[in-house]
Amino acid sequence: GPRPDEDLLQGLNPQQREAVTYRGQALLIVAGAGSGKTSVLTRRIASLLRGREAWPSQILAITFTNKAAGEMRERVEQLVGDTARGMWISTFHSACVRILRREAEQFGFTKSFTIYDSGDSRALIKRLVKEHEADAFGLTPAATQSKISKLKNELADAESYARSANLNDPAERVFVEVFGAYQRELQRANAFDFDDLIAQTVYLFRAFPQVADVYRRRFRHILVDEYQDTNHAQYALIHELTRPPGSDAAPLASSGGMMIFEPEPAAEEGASLTVVGDSDQSIYAFRGADIRNISEFEKDFPGAKVVLLEQNYRSTQNILSAANAVIGHNFDRKDKKLWTDVGDGEKIIGFTGYSQHDEAQFVADEIEALRRGGVDYSQMAVFYRTNSQSRALEEIFIRAALPYKIMGGTKFYERAEIKDALAYLVAVANPADEMAMRRIINRPRRGIGDVTIETISRYAADQQITFRDALANSSALGVGPKIQAAIAHLDAVLAEASELMLPSSGELAPPTAVAEGLTLLLNKSGYYDALRASKDAQDEARIENLDEMVAVAREFARNNPEGTILDFLTEVALVSDADDLEDASGSVSLMTLHTAKGLEYDAVFLTGVEEDLIPHRISAGEPGGPQEERRLFYVGITRARKRLYLSLAMTRAQFGEVTVAMPSRFLQEIPVELLHWRQSPGDVNSRGGTQSRALNARRGSGSGGSGFGGSGKRYGDDLVPLARREPSGNLERFANKIPAKVRDNGDLVLAPGDRIRHDDFGEGQVDAVTGEGAKRVAHVRFDSAGPKKLLIKIAPIEKL
Ligand code: ATP
Ligand code: MG
Repeated sequence: GPRPDEDLLQGLNPQQREAVTYRGQALLIVAGAGSGKTSVLTRRIASLLRGREAWPSQILAITFTNKAAGEMRERVEQLVGDTARGMWISTFHSACVRILRREAEQFGFTKSFTIYDSGDSRALIKRLVKEHEADAFGLTPAATQSKISKLKNELADAESYARSANLNDPAERVFVEVFGAYQRELQRANAFDFDDLIAQTVYLFRAFPQVADVYRRRFRHILVDEYQDTNHAQYALIHELTRPPGSDAAPLASSGGMMIFEPEPAAEEGASLTVVGDSDQSIYAFRGADIRNISEFEKDFPGAKVVLLEQNYRSTQNILSAANAVIGHNFDRKDKKLWTDVGDGEKIIGFTGYSQHDEAQFVADEIEALRRGGVDYSQMAVFYRTNSQSRALEEIFIRAALPYKIMGGTKFYERAEIKDALAYLVAVANPADEMAMRRIINRPRRGIGDVTIETISRYAADQQITFRDALANSSALGVGPKIQAAIAHLDAVLAEASELMLPSSGELAPPTAVAEGLTLLLNKSGYYDALRASKDAQDEARIENLDEMVAVAREFARNNPEGTILDFLTEVALVSDADDLEDASGSVSLMTLHTAKGLEYDAVFLTGVEEDLIPHRISAGEPGGPQEERRLFYVGITRARKRLYLSLAMTRAQFGEVTVAMPSRFLQEIPVELLHWRQSPGDVNSRGGTQSRALNARRGSGSGGSGFGGSGKRYGDDLVPLARREPSGNLERFANKIPAKVRDNGDLVLAPGDRIRHDDFGEGQVDAVTGEGAKRVAHVRFDSAGPKKLLIKIAPIEKL
């Protein structure tokens, strides 16, 4: 009869089929962008399940982002139905958290450990650097953090590093001290940083083979997407998991001559391993990713099958030819050529703006034109090299009322008020976490300063209790009555929240407990009150953000009826760069090139294609830096299905300075016949014009750098230095083209019923005004353009 997975193979080319159906211990699928690597991985999982070759629980699939994991799970479920539940499809980090939550007790942690994100670990390192006076040896917190992270990715700990370091060098000595102290502090706080999640899991498996065996028996099929971006620790983890169970089991200890652990005969096979990757898309060397993991796969897994995919199903030939040409400039790579049978398609469009605003305007206009041509906003994306480039784009998009979504740059969880709220939750969930306690002890202000904090800390150390437990003994601390009352109050609030969120009798907390507990904490701690009492417009935005956080907790409860506060904190901690809280449907996606990995869009705008941006100037001095930048550019190009735009600006304001930008060298690597310039760097250079209207207008905009929005973003300030400069030569000519759009209507008062005129939408009537300060929004019904929401501060409107 037909294979149970016959329909899964439909439409696949012979190489793809082979990749889905091959059965053996190790399979490497190497292929260029858009050749179906991720699709093949998904079908392979479906095929294993369909043929009853594996239970869902025996499959572990690793993706690079939580978003990618969600998509893969969805696709597998479409193919095989509900049976897919129980499969582990996750990032390296989430898989390790799951393992550690189960096993942490084996090595001195509890399952309620906290996950420190990079901000948390930076704060801790900062304190330790200060305590060890390490800055005297040139160790900044940032440098220390990145060095520790690098070592952990190589599975080096403080002791092993000390053995190889030159300890005669005082800077090395103090680094080793700080590294060691940092690790001890993490342990004391019952916390892991991001790098630890992986490294400690590897240590756990190596130290406790019988624990490792549990997972080796469980996972019979391990599949890894984007394998080119795995670092050494992740590689080691895969290695540990694919070893045959029982292979390294040895008597652990013997007591009284009696073996307490009986090794099993090593008859079972290790899990089968499938990895897919593209060494041309390796863009995380700066985080320790090691391209050799791919090139040496065959050596590491003898007998491995290798499948090459060369047909691209994503992009037009013009786009592919550009991608091939660019990546061909990297040396030290295996040449592979992508091809497609969908035809040449449109030419790539180039555009040079006078400024980044001009460039952004072009992008916005083009997006609208595509939209009118039937392309959905959600099928368009704008990429840039660095986060700060989004600002100019956003400014223009808001003005044009163009719906957009910043992917990965949300930074929602990096806001102070959100970190405070999370610290309150952590203080409840993991009382050993002193950093969380220190964070909230005086937020809102309770009159508790550093001196009191040190008093509490010392008392805790003397009594050998935690900082949290010390609060319960406020009367023994020897502090003044007011402070004592404040401490006692905080203690009571935390206790009440614990009771709600962590019922002691072993019963499950109700799913809404996290949302309710968070609301309780924010109310009773006085946090909400302090914000409400403030006159600062930003504080209103903070309340909104906290409400959003409570909504996130509610949403979590709906999706995870049995989820605990720990599950919630895990999920929040692992929201990675590329993940987004909100649904992006119906809006244009903006993101960095790094975030774009693995995604695809009908139309892609690659902006800021300039020297110093891409290749980025920090890469210039790094060995292999420019090559990695070229791969990043290649990743960007190959996201496009039908249309690709490459744009740049002649002047760019960055770090408060306006610089004259040069076209990126990568542009010259694209064959001229593939590119159609709407406005080329040459046009811009030769264009004359001496009117100084725009320049004067710029000067007139005065302060320019007014605060905007709750995120502390600043709009419109970046051109001010240009205006202040001596207008000379080219710069003046560029300035003439700067759209006179940087308005400040900050004082404009609008009331419902008022008539206004908008530069683009014409006349309309104000229905309502919401928000405060810089975030005031007018809800306007335009006579012909329909209803729109406009940010009053910067919208090009006037009152009639
Ligand atoms: P990247 O390197 O960017 O991660 P990839 O190799 O993982 O790309 P996929 O994302 O799996 O590629 O596939 C690219 C596109 O091609 C997807 O839209 C996918 O549905 C489509 N595709 C893959 N294989 C086929 C096929 N045999 N027939 C038709 N479309 C296909
Ligand atoms: Mg992919």
